[in-house]
Amino acid sequence: MPRVARDRDALSLRSPLADLAGIGPARARALGDAGLATALDLLLELPFRHEDRARFGRVADLVPGGPPVTVAGAIATSRLVRTRRRGFSIFEAELEDESGSIGLVFYNQPWLGRWMTPGARLFVHGRAVFKRRVVLESPWVEAEPSEEADIPLSVGRVVPIYRSLPGLAPRLRRRLVARCLEEAAPGLPERFPEALVRELCLPSLCDSLREAHFPGSAGGAADPRVWEERTSPHLRRLALEELLEFQVALGRRRRERAKRPAPRIEADAALRKKLGGILPFPLTGAQKQAIREIGADLRSGHPMARLLQGDVGSGKTIVAVLTALLAAERGFQSALLAPTAILAEQHAETVFRLLAGTGATPALLTARVTGRPRAALLAALAEGAIDLVVGTHALLEKPVVFRRLGLVVVDEQHRFGVAQRAALPARGAESGEHPHVLVLSATPIPRSLALALHGDLDVSTLDEKPPGRTPIRTRLAREDGRDEAYRALAKEVESGGRAYVVVPLVDESESIDARAVASWTDEVARRLPGRRVGALHGKMKPEARERAMRQFASGALDVLVATTVVEVGIDVPEASFLLVENAERFGLAQLHQLRGRIGRGARASTCVLLSGGGASEEAVSRLEVLARTDDGFAVAEEDLLRRGPGEAFGTRQSGLPEFRVADPLADRDLLGQARALASRLETGGNASAFEAPFLLPRARP
Ligand code: ADP
Ligand code: MG
Repeated sequence: MPRVARDRDALSLRSPLADLAGIGPARARALGDAGLATALDLLLELPFRHEDRARFGRVADLVPGGPPVTVAGAIATSRLVRTRRRGFSIFEAELEDESGSIGLVFYNQPWLGRWMTPGARLFVHGRAVFKRRVVLESPWVEAEPSEEADIPLSVGRVVPIYRSLPGLAPRLRRRLVARCLEEAAPGLPERFPEALVRELCLPSLCDSLREAHFPGSAGGAADPRVWEERTSPHLRRLALEELLEFQVALGRRRRERAKRPAPRIEADAALRKKLGGILPFPLTGAQKQAIREIGADLRSGHPMARLLQGDVGSGKTIVAVLTALLAAERGFQSALLAPTAILAEQHAETVFRLLAGTGATPALLTARVTGRPRAALLAALAEGAIDLVVGTHALLEKPVVFRRLGLVVVDEQHRFGVAQRAALPARGAESGEHPHVLVLSATPIPRSLALALHGDLDVSTLDEKPPGRTPIRTRLAREDGRDEAYRALAKEVESGGRAYVVVPLVDESESIDARAVASWTDEVARRLPGRRVGALHGKMKPEARERAMRQFASGALDVLVATTVVEVGIDVPEASFLLVENAERFGLAQLHQLRGRIGRGARASTCVLLSGGGASEEAVSRLEVLARTDDGFAVAEEDLLRRGPGEAFGTRQSGLPEFRVADPLADRDLLGQARALASRLETGGNASAFEAPFLLPRARP
């Protein structure tokens, strides 16, 4: 570890960041807002990659299609290009070294012009692309240090690259981290029992953090690859510790739940027969098995916490409704929570249909129910006159009171916040008994991963589809097949079908995407003269989004051009054609979810996955699994293997926990090891050290 000048007192883990030279009160506040208050917080924000600045490349090494390279060079020219689009700017610069020069292009970062002036020396890291000429698009840039003190940390070694934090330039940050590592890190607690440290040959936490920031500084390999490939023993130690913390927390939640009382709800033979009789079809074997598992939970006297996962259309809703009906027969109310008003209405339709003639009373509560009907509904809920209420977030609001809430069903739980998820079960608990909770998820993940990640939930899986579905025909096409694909789409619409065209977005946070969707919509409308084409994207107001979906559902629109916001939910039986533009940019699991939007009615459905002209062979061949199978689990497994859970499902969509160091898929072996270790430590009474969250990102699990 390079030595850094000390200012007065040595730091401890708890030292406020304001104690560090270079951090004034304003910066400390900005960092505090970003969740960093102490030296420890700074140490635990690990770099997301490392750059080998012991070996720089040259500008001439930057070739399109080649690997990313770090080069050091000087700015020859630079200019800010104003564009006609308001709020959109391009900053261009020419970077040169003795081997040649290359263009740099940055979008919407006009402030770069303040320091990237001719003569400025900098490091650039990126992958060359061909855009009329060879350029680096939005590469990583960092000014070359002018201060002697920064050189040993930022040049001539493997250097940490961090996600940016407000007001903390990379070089200053490295200097501060180095100081914290030197002075504060030795005070890090060792939580693994000594015997275990020896048994597993674990490096110390302090050394592992040193290596995580500055590979090679604590005896490890000075090579970014051992971090990229996740083979560094230091990375593995950190990941194991984090996963162990996670497993211990899950175990504790599970044990606490098992101590709580819950209503005992039990079906006898007569009731089972009655319930079976209300369905117009026999249950699948998988549905029967899930119902048996749920039944055992409901009888146990302790709150159920079960995840029911299954592909779209596998019949999860039916299982949930039967469970609610069982609760109703035994005098308990149920609540079914859906993420959007449309989904709630669709569930309500199913529920009203199934409950007709059973004697159970259903209701629907969304934000659209207002005034007197709302007051009447709330009163009926409080009196216990309603057995099953289907609703949105509106169910979580204060005036909603139940008389005997026995079951909470949460559909697509990952679309609710953590606090919201906890709110409804807590509501029932006011009476002293905790309601049973059933969570439905259409994001199928392999069972082993589900168990390890949702370790505090029991898992039931519907791995069988109801019979009699018309399978969806899926084909792949390339650029030269586009015209034909749109002709097929037009023909389908002609004959009474409806179609989705799904388009990719570069970055969901960019406002240019609204424009991108608008221009796609124009393009689709041009190809389908006389057809009513609507748009749907995440930048629309919720009401506008709802309106577009309703119009499509009612047939007022023939074609809906949409981003992945259509992915979850909406059930339009007439929708029989799905065309995905630039399909290579989507995850397989995501495409599978999208495909679940069609094939829901009597019409034979078609899905066309169009790859863009620039798509690589590999990206296109990846899509073949979708043409081969419509089994969501098979697709998910393939996707997980190729891309990892975050990317495969999109972090927000996945509902999987986020980790600081661990990658639950790449580190699958550690996940298993952590599970085993957690129960071993619990049995030995040694788990308490891991109970306080330390490595895990806050507010979780
Ligand atoms: P999911 O919620 O898993 O997407 P649903 O419960 O909405 O699936 O069921 C999808 C469709 O299949 C619904 O129209 C439902 O009535 C029907 N369905 C469910 N279970 C069966 C079954 N065992 N046999 C035939 N059809 C079924
Ligand atoms: Mg469903």
